[in-house]
Amino acid sequence: MPHAIKSAKIVEIAIPLYLDRTFHYLVPEELLERAISGRRALVPFGTRRLTGYILGDAVGTAVTNLKEIIEVLDSEPLWTAGELEFFRWTATYYQHPLGEVVRTALPAGINIQTRKGTAGEQGALTGGKSARREKFYLPGPGLDSPRLPGAKAMEILAVIRESGEISGAELRKRFGVCSPQLKRLTELGLSTAEEREVYRDPFKDHIVTRDEPRLLHTHQKNALDAISRCLDQQQFVPFLLYGVTGSGKTEVYLQAIFHSLELGKNALVLVPEIALTPQLTGRFQARFGGGIAILHSGLSDGERYDEWRRIRRGLARIVIGARSAIFAPLENIGIIIVDEEHESSFKQSDGLRYNARDLALVRGRMERAAVVLGSATPLVTSIHAADLGRLTLLELPERVEGRPMPLVDLVPMKGSKETISAALSASLAETYDQGRQALVFLNRRGFATFLVCSDCGKPLTCPNCSVTLTYHRQRGQSLCHYCDYAVPAPGTCPSCGGTTLNELGAGTEKLEHDLKELLPSARIVRMDSDTTSGKGSHGRLLSRMSDGSADILVGTQMIAKGHDFPEVTLVGVVNAEASLGMPDFRAAERTFQLLSQVIGRAGRGESPGRVIVQALDPEQYAIRSAAEHDAAGFYRQELEFRREAGYPPFTYLAAFALSGLSEQTVSEQADTTARKLARLKSELKIRVEILGPAPSPIYRLKNRFRRQILLKAANRGDLHRLLTSWRQQGTVVSTVRISVDIDPVDMM
Ligand code: ADP
Ligand code: ZN
Repeated sequence: MPHAIKSAKIVEIAIPLYLDRTFHYLVPEELLERAISGRRALVPFGTRRLTGYILGDAVGTAVTNLKEIIEVLDSEPLWTAGELEFFRWTATYYQHPLGEVVRTALPAGINIQTRKGTAGEQGALTGGKSARREKFYLPGPGLDSPRLPGAKAMEILAVIRESGEISGAELRKRFGVCSPQLKRLTELGLSTAEEREVYRDPFKDHIVTRDEPRLLHTHQKNALDAISRCLDQQQFVPFLLYGVTGSGKTEVYLQAIFHSLELGKNALVLVPEIALTPQLTGRFQARFGGGIAILHSGLSDGERYDEWRRIRRGLARIVIGARSAIFAPLENIGIIIVDEEHESSFKQSDGLRYNARDLALVRGRMERAAVVLGSATPLVTSIHAADLGRLTLLELPERVEGRPMPLVDLVPMKGSKETISAALSASLAETYDQGRQALVFLNRRGFATFLVCSDCGKPLTCPNCSVTLTYHRQRGQSLCHYCDYAVPAPGTCPSCGGTTLNELGAGTEKLEHDLKELLPSARIVRMDSDTTSGKGSHGRLLSRMSDGSADILVGTQMIAKGHDFPEVTLVGVVNAEASLGMPDFRAAERTFQLLSQVIGRAGRGESPGRVIVQALDPEQYAIRSAAEHDAAGFYRQELEFRREAGYPPFTYLAAFALSGLSEQTVSEQADTTARKLARLKSELKIRVEILGPAPSPIYRLKNRFRRQILLKAANRGDLHRLLTSWRQQGTVVSTVRISVDIDPVDMM
């Protein structure tokens, strides 16, 4: 048996399946040189062939019954030893199979080009499907003749002649469908077509003017100095860059990155998907020119893979991307920036449920990099970490050029029937008359409703969990989605005994309607998930604000983030408490962040801004502190609440989510799981609170019934041990899907 000889090489391979272990394979003679860590291998697995990831040589394994690798799929490693260490950390922390972590980290496009057969050539870095071909049109030798092909074709020809060569995509962008004309033009020899290989250039539509570093103001300078010191010493230091909107955070990022590049170190920049606008990426391009890779969800698998390869080959020194960019194959990282660190979109909500903001700190530590978490409204947990000295606080307390924070009026809406108050409508009219722009914001994610007492303005909350109760009209109950507490609804208000309990308010469509009645000649644009579903519609709506062809922008939280509207002088907030109604302990934090951001939209240009906030209960601390720009006050109260109610940062959470097609099976399985967890907990003698099972806030999704169990522990180690031993029990074969979310962010 050739396999049994002593020198047989055995490798450890991770398989991208939900299996809690790795596997050993023999390497056949002819693959000995190529079967090394960092490459993918085709392996037999049961009756299937799967792509696995070679982790390294296996040690101390008996060579019996091992199968052989069929093929090695790459000619160069896809990940480094350092990256593997990062993947392993991630797998352990999130209790997720290593093979699945590696699969998540690699770009999706990489798997498409996996072919069987020929050795070596189809390595991920050396070819495959990524080379995209595109048609280019050039002026042809043909002469203009009496058989001229029509007006549109002639216009197209003029453009081809003028530009010398132009891609089909570009022509379609200008002329819409134009293949009949192009066909005709090539037939007549007026144009010739050539296929070319193209790398996508994320900036190709973007004209940039070179931008010079600004002379920093004192606070910016102090922040930059602190970051630069850490860069010089090649030390891991986590910073919290806390600066109001418009205080010059991005300028600090840019100069810190510049310093890092000067030291020969690369930069990774994570931003929320929604902030990955040409506006932001353009600023980086203007400052640094080329060498930037951009990863966003608009890329096709092939395009994403292109960018990934550019990074892996060291052709990009700055990587800007949404959460998945935390896995970018960037080496020699000097600085990692997480902009808008408070954004919940850094958390992946399925599969590997990682949080890129948290992982930035882990990767930064491994790389001995500076990590800068930036925000105008940091997470409550970040503020707490800064209080404890775990994050180094850098503050930018003022807007650039001393522009004042906008003036905010709080309008109490208790007992009012209107959507738009007299104060807001007067200000809207005035702003419109002055030819200026306004934003009107209403955060209403068309999701379960909750009840608000019209006497005291407070929403109904759970006495056990301090989260809002969700109103279920059909059941006639208000229900807690953490612990299953229920009261008959509508019922009475537990705060003041009031008997008039109302479902909360109108949506954006109604608001748009009311605004049209109020100002019939104003040009109103509505932006919410209904009006932005089409590709590019988001940008089109926004450009109507920037080119001045709209007077009022109405919308949901989409309008609160990532855009700068210099001409907006008035911001109206309707139903400030809408986001307080989320059945989530972070509701107040989200409300504060959202309101602060919306308020920050006013007066970013030369004219000072004005904000009108309509609220049922203007005394609610998240609303009041946002309106008064009193962030310190908000964080103090919120941390007090978290401590009392036992939520992060004072506890650690994990959520079990169960779902299935049969309501009863899901319910039984949830009970079984909770009992099993309780048993393990007492065996381990650890302190973990087990809440639920309770129906998930969105109880039914895509036909599946959903329940959840929430685990809370004062000690992260206890939580981790409980989950580890739960996993070691192995999964029961069942039609019910069970997933575990460590540090859950969205428990809908
Ligand atoms: P933030 O990221 O905190 O919202 P930015 O970095 O975008 O703030 O700065 C807001 C505006 O002020 C931008 O137009 C930026 O170019 C400008 N800016 C930033 N720092 C300075 C500075 N030191 N001097 C002059 N302008 C600055
Ligand atoms: Zn409860």
